[in-house]
Amino acid sequence: MSKFIFVTGGVVSSLGKGIAAASLGKLLEARGLKTAIIKCDPYLNVDPGTMNPFQHGEVYVTDDGAETDLDLGHYERFTNAVLSKDSSITAGKVYYTVITKERRGDYLGKTVQIIPHITDEIKERLKKVAKNSGVDITIVEIGGTVGDIESLPFLEAIRQLRWELGEHYALNIHVTLLPYIRSAGEQKTKPTQHSVGRLREIGIIPQILLCRTEKSITQEQREKIALFCNVDVEAVIEALDVRHIYEVPAALKKEGLDDLVLKKLNIKLPDRGLKQWEEGVLKRLRSPAKEVKIAVVGKYIALQDAYKSIYEALAHGGIANNAKVHIIRIDSEEMEKTDPKKLLKDARGVLIPGGFGGRGIEGKVRAVQYVREHKIPFFGICLGMQIATIEFARNMCALKDANSTEFDKETKCPVISLIEEQKKVKNLGASMRLGAYTCVIEKGTKAFEAYKSAKIFERHRHRYEFNNVYRSALEGKGLVIAGRNPERDLVEIIEIKDHPWFVGCQFHPEFKSKPDAAHPLFRAFVAAALAGEKN
Ligand code: GLN
Repeated sequence: MSKFIFVTGGVVSSLGKGIAAASLGKLLEARGLKTAIIKCDPYLNVDPGTMNPFQHGEVYVTDDGAETDLDLGHYERFTNAVLSKDSSITAGKVYYTVITKERRGDYLGKTVQIIPHITDEIKERLKKVAKNSGVDITIVEIGGTVGDIESLPFLEAIRQLRWELGEHYALNIHVTLLPYIRSAGEQKTKPTQHSVGRLREIGIIPQILLCRTEKSITQEQREKIALFCNVDVEAVIEALDVRHIYEVPAALKKEGLDDLVLKKLNIKLPDRGLKQWEEGVLKRLRSPAKEVKIAVVGKYIALQDAYKSIYEALAHGGIANNAKVHIIRIDSEEMEKTDPKKLLKDARGVLIPGGFGGRGIEGKVRAVQYVREHKIPFFGICLGMQIATIEFARNMCALKDANSTEFDKETKCPVISLIEEQKKVKNLGASMRLGAYTCVIEKGTKAFEAYKSAKIFERHRHRYEFNNVYRSALEGKGLVIAGRNPERDLVEIIEIKDHPWFVGCQFHPEFKSKPDAAHPLFRAFVAAALAGEKN
């Protein structure tokens, strides 16, 4: 039976609870334990798939096609945990299930209530993941901040679960903030005391506190926090700001987090260190041999979280090439008004990420034309591939009206359009082409050179597709169809001839990249950008 670790957050949001949970997963894996990770989100959307990135940040997609919170991306990047649609539990999903059961008559005669019906549904879902994945430890991160009304059912569920399982089988970790007050020159422990007090009111006593702080905590402060919050002094863990998120596992290990967790869960295992991570990731992050600037042209540039996996995968491509990638963020609307030459003058590579809707589209088309003509390495992802197709059709094939029906329903030249099954879609939630599909790759292409394989599986999240009606016209002018989905004959990868590196893919490779195993396309793209740096 899997043991559970529940991770809650207090004081403020954005404390890096997801990274803390992922780092804990990494540390436990390094000790030889198999882990699963679950994210509980208290909002009422069934999944974040219909939310604007400005609201929610990136929507992360799993192999089985679940649209999930971006914290699941951290989990997959830090650990080997295999995630699925069950790894993401929203209040929306839970209520939807309970209300559907009520309508079916499953609770006939009873009043359906938050306790026990909603909390039972949450517990069942948690136990199901723990059981089906056959892991030693299931880490459960509760989204939101303690004190929010909407997260109460989740907190009540984990309170019950720990009580049912007993002390060596479940553990509560609370991630909290010690704000530094400059004028007083000290960190304040009061918000943490209040937050833990709030948890105690609902029957949860955390055994470990992860204290996020800009400055080191003194022994005296540790003792004070321990006394007021009912934890052992050794369980007051300092989580100091670090330069890079991949430093977090090593920093928490230094504080003894893994030893402490194993002790509290009554598990005895030898410590084999974090050598591979230190050598393969941290050493290269700290002292890269080279540097390169890569531009990302997107419409959600203002929000750091909107392209999370893209930025991470570029960093991984850098690590694989022993280089630091500096990202130049360019708003595609800005590109509509300004000469691309001016905006892209420092970029040795340009990436256009995924996106929805017409805003900023023409700016992206201008960026593609510029990099195609100036032979600057280009990587187009999902919408980025669709834009590259539109640009090629317009400027290389004299199809002036070329567009996607997403942006111009009446276009005379729909080089990107909906396939039949998408035309029938009525509900927008979870109805895109989602999750992993097969792609076969042509030998002799840049994609084949990167993957070194003729058959790959990559994750999708889109409705529109390359329109095969235009395939031969575009191929005739030098477009290369480098990858196809064999079952439905859908274009998955395009390239162009006579260009140092110009690759567009309909899928999202960024979701499968890891710091110690960069995605092949990101590795190759950064290598191509570095090659341009020397010229
Ligand atoms: N909006 C495009 C589509 O739905 C691209 C989606 C994406 O980039 N994820 O096909």
